[in-house]
Amino acid sequence: MRRALFILFCFGCAGPTGDDEVAPAPGKVADIVEKAACGSVDYFGVCEGDVAVWCNQRNLARHDCGNRSMTCGWVNDSLGNWCVERDLPDPGELDSDGDGINDDRDRCSNTPAGRPVWTFGQWLGCAGGQRVDPDAPPWQPEPEPEPEPEPEPDPEPDPEPEPEPEPEPEPEPGADCDDIPDHACDGTAAWCSELVPFMPVHGDGYWNYPLNGETEGNQYRSYIRRDLMMLIKYASAWTRCLGEDWPEGNGGPLGLGDMSEADGAIPGTSVGSPGHPGGTHTNGRDLDIAYFQTGTVDNRLRPVCDHYSGGRDAYHCTDEPDRLDVRRTAVFLAKLHDSDRLRVIGVDGRVGPLVTDAIAELCAGDVLEGDACSGSNSITWEASDSGRGWYRFHHHHFHVSFYTGGIQTSAQPVSALCLTDDCAPVEHGYP
Ligand SMILES: [Zn+2]
Repeated sequence: MRRALFILFCFGCAGPTGDDEVAPAPGKVADIVEKAACGSVDYFGVCEGDVAVWCNQRNLARHDCGNRSMTCGWVNDSLGNWCVERDLPDPGELDSDGDGINDDRDRCSNTPAGRPVWTFGQWLGCAGGQRVDPDAPPWQPEPEPEPEPEPEPDPEPDPEPEPEPEPEPEPEPGADCDDIPDHACDGTAAWCSELVPFMPVHGDGYWNYPLNGETEGNQYRSYIRRDLMMLIKYASAWTRCLGEDWPEGNGGPLGLGDMSEADGAIPGTSVGSPGHPGGTHTNGRDLDIAYFQTGTVDNRLRPVCDHYSGGRDAYHCTDEPDRLDVRRTAVFLAKLHDSDRLRVIGVDGRVGPLVTDAIAELCAGDVLEGDACSGSNSITWEASDSGRGWYRFHHHHFHVSFYTGGIQTSAQPVSALCLTDDCAPVEHGYP
């Protein structure tokens, strides 16, 4: 199956005009802007390998599409040259392991039968128990219990009984998780608080998917402080690693929701529709994140519970969450506490008790360690509406907020943790 190209070829219609004064279409986000005259390069730009190069208000801008496993190509006559899917060869040429993905990396051998595999933006099913990596042992169903051997006289001496395998030593928490990125930003304050696009889109254990009007080429609601991005990547990688063999949940990466716009504005401001209350989601200090889920195809933002009451949407869980992957959500939230910049995490009133209990259990079982196991607790919720901003609209995501100025040195009582810094009564909506 040939992967679809997302290029809209435009035959015979207006192409690049070379006119400097073309109003920039929203959508191109530069990694680097050079203070250099554009020369012959216009807004529609050119491709240098995987890199899109274009003129952004008289300066040359570049974006490496390779960062998201795409390449540069002509998109349409409003964006010009920008990131497009690579035109991959037919499976078979590169898909030597037969998992339906065009490379020789087997993504199915470690996947329990019937569970989906994640790859660039798509779910691909692995056939039941698929093990087609030539280096992997052939897949076999769970062995039937051996029938009792017939009591036959055996001329051969009984073979030595297989020695009992040494019991595996109890692993230290996360002993095998040695590739977790650091969460601590050790640059200058300006560097650590700099607003950056959340890249790459697909990372270890997370997925910054386009939502609320974003497109693959224009993730305008996904700008975040660099230090907060590092913490999210840290917690995602930990959760992916610790949860690798946990049977519950859909096994997919964690979906990231709204952050801020590139200039620090509330997402939606540039299209005339700010999607969050004033004082939240500004300057990349807040973000919304999906719950890890069970019984769903992926971990995009969606309700994890029944949220109707009397036939009307109550915008909060009205029953116990039945699609919440409690353990992975608990690990993720716990790991966020390893940063002293964490201000608050707001969750639904029915989710809060489940995840805090799970964190306590995981700490007691030495699966988790870190600040969340030594008394640090910034997770809060409202079982009834007390005006702190969490009661409604957190049944499909939780909200993470960072300290931006001075860091709180003594823990605030959880009862005082509000959506806004000053506890102004606002409701955290979501488009
Ligand atoms: Zn939020």
